[in-house]
Amino acid sequence: MYVNVLVEIGAKSVDREFVYFVPESLQNQIQIGIRVKVSFGKQTIEGFVISIFNDYHEDMSLKPIIEVIDPEPILNKEMIYLGKQIKETTLCSLISAYQAMLPKALKASINTNINIKEDKYLVINQDNQTINAYLEHCRYPKQKELLEEIIKRQELKITRIDSTIKTLIKHGLIKIITKEAYRFQAKEDNHYHEVKLNKDQQNVVDTVKANITNPITYLLYGVTGSGKTEVYMEIINYVLSLNKTAIMLVPEISLTPQIVGRFVNRFHDNIAILHSGLSDSERYDEYRKIKRGEVKIVIGARSAIFAPLDNLGIIIIDEEHTSTYKQDNHPRYNAKDVAILRSKYHRCPVLLGSATPSLESFAKAGNHVYQLLTLPKRANNKPLPHVNIIDMKQEVKTGNFILSKQLQEQIQKRLDNKEQVILLLNRRGYSSMITCRNCGHVIKCPNCDISLTYHKTSDNLRCHYCGYNQKRPNICPECGHEEAKDFGLGTERLEEEINQKFNARVIRMDLDTTSKKGAHEKIIEDFGNHKYDILLGTQMIAKGLDFPLVTLVGVINADTTLNVPDFRSSERTFQLLCQVSGRAGRSDNPGEVIIQTYNPDHYSIKYAQKHDYLGFYKEEMSIRKKLGYSPYYYITLVKIYSKDYKLGFEHANKIGDYLRKNVDETTIILGPTMAPIFKINNIYNYQCIIKYRKDPKLKQTLINLDNIYKTENKINVEIDVDPTRL
Ligand code: ADP
Ligand code: ZN
Repeated sequence: MYVNVLVEIGAKSVDREFVYFVPESLQNQIQIGIRVKVSFGKQTIEGFVISIFNDYHEDMSLKPIIEVIDPEPILNKEMIYLGKQIKETTLCSLISAYQAMLPKALKASINTNINIKEDKYLVINQDNQTINAYLEHCRYPKQKELLEEIIKRQELKITRIDSTIKTLIKHGLIKIITKEAYRFQAKEDNHYHEVKLNKDQQNVVDTVKANITNPITYLLYGVTGSGKTEVYMEIINYVLSLNKTAIMLVPEISLTPQIVGRFVNRFHDNIAILHSGLSDSERYDEYRKIKRGEVKIVIGARSAIFAPLDNLGIIIIDEEHTSTYKQDNHPRYNAKDVAILRSKYHRCPVLLGSATPSLESFAKAGNHVYQLLTLPKRANNKPLPHVNIIDMKQEVKTGNFILSKQLQEQIQKRLDNKEQVILLLNRRGYSSMITCRNCGHVIKCPNCDISLTYHKTSDNLRCHYCGYNQKRPNICPECGHEEAKDFGLGTERLEEEINQKFNARVIRMDLDTTSKKGAHEKIIEDFGNHKYDILLGTQMIAKGLDFPLVTLVGVINADTTLNVPDFRSSERTFQLLCQVSGRAGRSDNPGEVIIQTYNPDHYSIKYAQKHDYLGFYKEEMSIRKKLGYSPYYYITLVKIYSKDYKLGFEHANKIGDYLRKNVDETTIILGPTMAPIFKINNIYNYQCIIKYRKDPKLKQTLINLDNIYKTENKINVEIDVDPTRL
């Protein structure tokens, strides 16, 4: 018996399959998808068995399988199939696709040190008669008490072994058994309040229910607060009644504790939560719960799409427009695509939900590739908040650089009314750059092509790309002048401004205040309990939060996302403004939104003001059509990196030429150009953008290109099919 074993060697993920022979003693353990240990050169490595066969001609030179690691396969049939599909569509290596599906404990790699926690229990080790006889004659109350307790409970969990236990064990009356324990337990915080679905919600639920065994992809377009989450729960409830299982993806789980809480309150311990904050061991615990069928619902971020549930009945992807559903390093899979593959495999629907669907998804709904479902109104019939746009060009003339007069007045009004305020500023730190007043020198990162951000809390300058930091210099490193000027505005500065202007309890939520485990949840919980009046932060505050006392949302600078050089910057701006606006006025008191901008006439801001998704969609689509971008053209990004500026430049040009020669004539190759951030961490970044509609030659060309550069040391090429950003 022989096997093909897929192994991972080296940093560049390259597929390597090797044939090994299976010694007689291991033959009955070998299965496809199981992990084995094999020797490779001088080392022992782990790999996956990919195929099994009986004929091979060069017996003598083959090495044996050293050990079979698992009692049963780690990769099941479906996973093996998914891996191949992901390789086909994203041009990744097969091994990287498989590794991405598994928790660390199960990846094929040596030296993973993940322990399984075991709990100890006492159980009776004798027949009733013997025990009763012992109890009758026993003179020690402690022993009696313990024995009776074990009899009552059948199993008694213990944390230490005392002398009473020792004695009873010595007499052979009881024994200790161990059981695997799970470390993480989602907490229920209150009871589930059943809501009666309104007519629109019921329609959506009924449609999906009627097609629960069809692999249809639905796009649920429902405005913020329209009750999408209730719809998800109702459909999952139905799926459970059919004895099937469900996956629900959320953009990032630590940012959505409220939604997860609602699920836990309704479905209790029938849920595994694949939380990004879990340790590797905890994650492995959750994985085992799923694999053993002990839970029927899995909630998690992107990688939860691979949850090894059998008998899937529904896959839900909330906030489907979020770019984090696509992994932005190798393997660059998109969880939405994997969801659709799994839905075909299990014959179940996919439900994509959003208040601001991605243009690609909405276009697919228009072409009936997806089926559109809508929730046009807020569930409680409250109106969407009123949105005001403030032209900051006018405000700065009156000296208001950070907060406009109107925003200041409105904040004060909410404070007087004991209501709450959310303020969005999409940039952390204190100021975004420091410039010399004399020579105009900007202090930049020595490793990257961007200016350093001043952080007042830690009193240093930091690079938001590579993490480099240094003290703020007293004099300009260029001309020696002493005065420096802060430019731009970050969350720290905003917090300071608010503290100066208002007598309010303020909490800041950004990457710097949430690095500790559980910090997000704590901020959200405290704000929910009105320990604070104002929550300010980066875009992490925009998603999924539901605070009834919030009646004012302020966007300090709507232009931060607009000025990014990417064809999706308008779309991102529109989505962010709608999302954050949706946090206002979700309960009894009407909400108000104030958007400050230097581009008050920009269409993405105007449509966000009117909550007009369709209007935005039409206008943006016509622009994409004119410029030849997604969804009219498919896009693939070829990134070329090198530590060597010149070598990178040469190869980028070579690659550009190679592409132009080897693609269909209708395909457009842009570049090579410098990437938007040219130098990151001392590595130079070039890129080519490929735009195409239908190109039968392209895939093979890209595979060839990839193969050429896999063996190159000084140049790295990465191919990003369908990139989320350019
Ligand atoms: P979305 O996910 O679309 O933002 P949610 O499901 O969070 O909306 O619903 C918004 C609010 O409306 C929640 O507080 C929810 O409990 C409430 N809600 C949802 N559906 C109903 C309903 N049918 N009747 C009353 N309240 C509802
Ligand atoms: Zn840097």
